[in-house]
This record gives sequence, C-alpha cells and structure tokens, in this order.
Amino acid sequence: MSYELLKKELQHVSHKVYQKGFTQATGGNISVRIPGTDYVLIKRSGVSLGEVSREDALVVNMEGEVIEGQGKPSKEIGFHLGIYKVRPDVNAVVHCHPNYAIGYACLGEELPLPTVTARKLLGHVPVAGVAPSGSKELAQHVTDVFTQYPDIKITLMKDHGVCSVGPTLEAAYNVVDLAEATAKQAFILSQLRAGVPVTN
Ligand code: 13P
Ligand code: ZN
Repeated sequence: MSYELLKKELQHVSHKVYQKGFTQATGGNISVRIPGTDYVLIKRSGVSLGEVSREDALVVNMEGEVIEGQGKPSKEIGFHLGIYKVRPDVNAVVHCHPNYAIGYACLGEELPLPTVTARKLLGHVPVAGVAPSGSKELAQHVTDVFTQYPDIKITLMKDHGVCSVGPTLEAAYNVVDLAEATAKQAFILSQLRAGVPVTN
C-alpha cells in the first residue's frame, strides 16, 4: 500500500482547516479512503487539526479496527465509516466547527444559499440531528442524512458543526470553505435586511 502521500495530504488539509479558523482547540477530524483497498486513513483522537502530523493519520478497516499506527482513532469514526459505506462516490470526509455555519446549525435550519455560486456548488445543505460527540446516535444521524440525500456535499450538524464529503480531500475542504463563507454572507444579508449597519 502506498499511502504516504495521502498522509501528507491529510496533514496539509488538517492544517488549512485550523489556520482558516474552521475549527478550534482539538475539534474536528478528517479521513480519506486508501484507493484500491477497504482501508481508511483517519486522524488520531484528541489531536488538534493545527498540530496533525503524518503519524497522527491511523489506518483503520471498515469495522473501525486500527490496522496501523499508535493511539485511538477519532471518536467520530462512526459517521466517517458510515458515510463511506452509503456513498461509494465519496473518498474524503471533513468534520469541523466553523463559527457562522454553526450559528445556522444551532438554529436547526438548513443553510441559506443567497449566492448563485453557493446554489450551484452546494445545492442543498440539510441539518443532521443532535446527539453527543462520538456517540452511536450522532454517527447514525449524520449517516442518515447522507443516505436520505445521496447528492449532498455537506450537512450541518445540530448544535455541533459541519460534515463535508468529496472525491478528494481538497474537494471536501473546498466545500467547507464555501459553506462557511456562504454562512457568513447569509448572516450579513440577514443583518442588512434587519437594518443593522455592517461594519466588517
Ligand atoms: P476527535 O479528536 O476524537 O477527532 O474529536 C473531535 C471532534 O470534533 C468531536 O466531534
Ligand atoms: Zn466535532
């Protein structure tokens, strides 16, 4: 198995998510399928995305057992593997805690899509039900949304964050980037509509 480059990519995308402010502290987790295998690389639990190294990318099988690497896989492994099982088109999953998107996630409303770009590229952003981090219930809620809407690229997670998918890590990252910008634009628009002066 040649997946050293994928480990490097997982590290690179993890750092970007953190540096762009799309997550805080040790929140968030990223995984990617190892092509041609039934294995997945996933971040080690408890490591900040800003500090992820190649050694923090653990190899797991579809049952969630660690095949290679030290430590415990992300506590959200349940929905990462759940998504891979129901979406064969998906090769990468990014879960993180971006502020504006979380605002809408806490409202329990689908993400408003005010721009033509968001409507074209995001299409529809539903909300997965709330459950404690790392729980089987949360894994089921998130997997259910990706099963119910087989075309979505991202879902909000009630009171928690977002989960995006893509054919590559870079594509899944770009979906989060656009979704968080869209949430900020929707927020600005709501302020303008309410007559609140926008200063930045
Ligand atoms: P892990 O550190 O176990 O990946 O958990 C972070 C997180 O965001 C839980 O929802
Ligand atoms: Zn989380």
